[in-house]
Amino acid sequence: MIASLMPNYNRADLAFARGEGAYLFDTAGRRFLDFGAGIATSSLGHGHPHLVAEIAAQAAKVIHVSNLYRVPEAEKLAARLVAATFADSVFFCNSGAEANEGLVKAFRKTMADAGKPERTRIICFEHAFHGRTLAMIAATGNPKYLAGFGAPVAGFDHVPFNNLNAVRAAITSETAGILIEPVQGEGGIRPADLRFLRDLRATCDEFGILLGLDEVQCGMGRTGKFLAHEWAGIEPDAVSLAKGIAGGFPMGAVLAKEAVAKALVPGSHGTTFGGGPLACAAANAVLDVILAPGFMDEVDATSRYLWRGLEALVQKYPSVFTEARGAGLIVGLRCAVPNMDVQNAALAEGLLTVAAGDNVLRLVPPLIVRQPECAEALALLDRAARRCLPMAVAEAAK
Ligand SMILES: *Cc1c(COP(=O)(O)O)cnc(C)c1O
Repeated sequence: MIASLMPNYNRADLAFARGEGAYLFDTAGRRFLDFGAGIATSSLGHGHPHLVAEIAAQAAKVIHVSNLYRVPEAEKLAARLVAATFADSVFFCNSGAEANEGLVKAFRKTMADAGKPERTRIICFEHAFHGRTLAMIAATGNPKYLAGFGAPVAGFDHVPFNNLNAVRAAITSETAGILIEPVQGEGGIRPADLRFLRDLRATCDEFGILLGLDEVQCGMGRTGKFLAHEWAGIEPDAVSLAKGIAGGFPMGAVLAKEAVAKALVPGSHGTTFGGGPLACAAANAVLDVILAPGFMDEVDATSRYLWRGLEALVQKYPSVFTEARGAGLIVGLRCAVPNMDVQNAALAEGLLTVAAGDNVLRLVPPLIVRQPECAEALALLDRAARRCLPMAVAEAAK
């Protein structure tokens, strides 16, 4: 008989009872160092006193009111996001896929309002991940995610990542814009070249199309800047956020320039839960922490320490790890043995990680980790790599 929870996930036989900072404790009391952070989502770690207190206080006041009314917590949060970024205006929703849907709808509507309703298509990239709704599996383009769900939603073209000529060749009179992850997450922690991002900005300006960035995974401080594209010194037309934005409370957002945001007139788009008081209180608490002076510099310094250690591991265990790549605290270790074996070896040592595409082991710790937790993670990875050496020998013999 089928389990009462639908079988759509491959779950580890592990359940957590509580968390504290960068650590999780399972129901048997065993302690794990969490370098997965609920897939780059628990940005402040577990049980962060400020986040917990703000959520509890807001829950006691009012949890939900709907967007029929003003929501002061949302107005405050939007103003802070506008002040901290390229954006002029913000739409709140509940997930990364929903944020990307909103971004694509806003791009299409912007074009329609400009008298170019034929410009509906979005250029996306190989190895992208944009979510699991019908439109976003089409934007993602991975045949594995599309199989069995009928004809893919129309309007998404795919080109190789970091290849400007391919992008330029794909632009037609029906193109509305480009959607790219500045650091591809699920696809294997592949960073876009900063020059490529700058070239995309220039290309969008040249052709009169819009640049959208999916920063659902790499945004909100993860790279050591508030938004990942800041490293390239560009201004996009819109950015989607989710995952870390509310520290593990479900939330998504579309940040946009006025020219795009103004297309979403009353009645054009909406979502019942989006920007509710509780989610906004959680996100405001996250901003209190990560926008505090010096916090992002600490993320940057910590990540540099982690990187040095990871590069040393690649040197030490070339038959297990072939490369460290990514940016800040979104790091991929490309494996020479199956990444799931390394993930399981790390788990056996008490370190939580997440697998990603291209046989990559993903490290996306809470942004509150510092050198001691990174030193511990590196030691656990060293032991995990040693566990994998027999597999590496077997792999080499193939
Ligand atoms: C996780 C992710 C999404 C989808 O987010 P959901 O909240 O699962 O819908 C979209 N884009 C990127 C880059 C992601 O990492």
